[in-house]
Amino acid sequence: MTLSPDSCHPLSSDPRQALEQAEILCQRRGARLTELRRRVLEIIWSNPTPLSAYAILDLLRDDGRQGGPPTVYRALDFLLGQGLIHRLASLNVFTGCRQPDSRHNGQFLICRDCGQVDELSNPAVEELLRAEATARQFEVLAQMVEVLGRCPDCRGGETPYAG
Ligand SMILES: [Zn+2]
Ligand SMILES: [Zn+2]
Repeated sequence: MTLSPDSCHPLSSDPRQALEQAEILCQRRGARLTELRRRVLEIIWSNPTPLSAYAILDLLRDDGRQGGPPTVYRALDFLLGQGLIHRLASLNVFTGCRQPDSRHNGQFLICRDCGQVDELSNPAVEELLRAEATARQFEVLAQMVEVLGRCPDCRGGETPYAG
């Protein structure tokens, strides 16, 4: 897989591809994707739904690793800092970023029933929110949009409601 510096092609949710891209990005930035950080990222990508820090810690212990919550939090901080994962504040869980090579604020559709998350990245949404905040002289420090609902699988054959 080749990446141009500003490519922003969404990733599929294939953990191998995500890890490969993470390695390329960290190498390019001179950031160290240690074995533990890589494993935490792999755990996040391998799980169908976002995970809490404690769930990640449990899975690390299944690997036979030592270390407490600070170990996991440090790894998560690194991955957040590199834009490789996002934290969903409403649930306090972590999900892999589909476009880690482009700086963006997260926009997420979160399924209430199965917990699956779909990441959107629509610059128009970001700009609109920023403009609304600016009009109110509100300084935006972070912008996360989390939309709770039901995914197509959980909705089954239901027809969408009309507004
Ligand atoms: Zn993202
Ligand atoms: Zn669902």
